Amino acid sequence: MIVVGAGLAGLNCALTLQDRGLSVTVLEAGDAVGGRVRTDVIDGYRCDRGFQLLNPSYPAVRRYVDLPALDLRSFAAGVAVAGDAGTTVVGDPRRQPGLIGRSLLSGFARPLELTRLAAWAAPALGPVSRLLDGPDMTLKESLDEAGVDGRIRREILEPFLAGVLASDDGSTSAKFVRLLVRSFLLGTPAVPADGMAALPEQLAGRLREPVRLGETVTAIESGPKVRTTAGEEPARAVVVATDPTTAGAVVRVRAPRMKGLRTYWFAADDAPRTDNLLVVDGRRDGPVVNTAVMTTAAPSYAPAGRQLIQATTLYPTEATESEVRIQLTRMYGRSAGAWEVVVRHDIAEALPDQLPPLEARQPVDLGDGLYVAGDHRDTASIQGALVSGRRAANTVAAALAG
Ligand SMILES: Cc1cc2nc3c(=O)[nH]c(=O)nc-3n(C[C@H](O)[C@H](O)[C@H](O)COP(=O)(O)OP(=O)(O)OC[C@H]3O[C@@H](n4cnc5c(N)ncnc54)[C@H](O)[C@@H]3O)c2cc1C
Repeated sequence: MIVVGAGLAGLNCALTLQDRGLSVTVLEAGDAVGGRVRTDVIDGYRCDRGFQLLNPSYPAVRRYVDLPALDLRSFAAGVAVAGDAGTTVVGDPRRQPGLIGRSLLSGFARPLELTRLAAWAAPALGPVSRLLDGPDMTLKESLDEAGVDGRIRREILEPFLAGVLASDDGSTSAKFVRLLVRSFLLGTPAVPADGMAALPEQLAGRLREPVRLGETVTAIESGPKVRTTAGEEPARAVVVATDPTTAGAVVRVRAPRMKGLRTYWFAADDAPRTDNLLVVDGRRDGPVVNTAVMTTAAPSYAPAGRQLIQATTLYPTEATESEVRIQLTRMYGRSAGAWEVVVRHDIAEALPDQLPPLEARQPVDLGDGLYVAGDHRDTASIQGALVSGRRAANTVAAALAG
């Protein structure tokens, strides 16, 4: 069995095949496992390749990942919204009653707006099957239909979702957004103490045969047989668990449009905020879609006595670093001018588009012993990647048994 790609989908696929008693070789073009979940350690700073969070409420994460071993460092269940009159903290009313109370008192959100938002979000807490049933529409259409408007939409929800979806045009599937909202309502996002790369490394560590790194698959021929930069390899079955664009080129599945993100990792002497909240810009006046002081949640992300701050924009972008610093200075109310850039990650292909209607389970069996896995087959998330790997492996095993 050959699995092409050691991202989360490929790794979970290989582990499932291994659990079913099949021998499996994973070929990975990169110099480490993880795909879009990697961490660069630079001068003691842990900079994930693009800011991202692990939500421990994802069912696949609960099922396939040893969470205690990741030593998760949680962010708070809320966001800080930077506005004209300083920062307002808005929290999940069930877990942070104090926070939402404060935001109501401040007049940030009117009770009617909150009621409408709660009604819009309510399906997210029901059964997933019901959530996925019925017609889909864009996020914008569904918010309009539910009458969600005012500051809560323009200054909190839309800025927050722009970073999560890598898109600010409201075109994403409303079903997909509700799935994400569900994961935020049920779990508190976190990062592993050693960086996001600890997640794929944990999965890879369970494989009996180590992943073959630095081996790029250049073609897949009938048989099936894979051609790699190191030679030729026959197999009983091949699972293509590459990024969506490569999958589109190699096995001719429809490749979705990819959305990009840029993350600046700044080192500083002092933390501009001491709570572990994600900060969004309610004024939406600048390129930054979210920022966070990583070290308040995870001190292990920087050398002792230093702070690490992430600032993320959509990508591609015309925005300059100086515009980013000006916006951060306003958002934190503290000068960002002297912060040092540790590294900047430009991820052109961060997330596949999830336009309506959401097709949460796309076919994985391409015939002739060829299979496909990856977040583009399920949902554009860590959850979707893990599930798709599992689903492809189960399909392979069933075909071989049959
Ligand atoms: C900046 C950023 C932020 C994100 N934020 C979140 C978040 O907060 N929450 C969330 O749930 N998800 C988030 N995601 C999405 C999540 O990381 C991805 O959905 C998931 O990691 C995709 O995994 P995958 O295995 O499907 O694909 P990939 O991770 O792309 O893995 C594909 C692998 O195939 C390899 N490969 C490609 N071509 C070849 C070839 N020819 N031969 C051999 N190997 C090949 C690649 O090197 C790669 O290792 C984010 C992603 C990014 C980039």
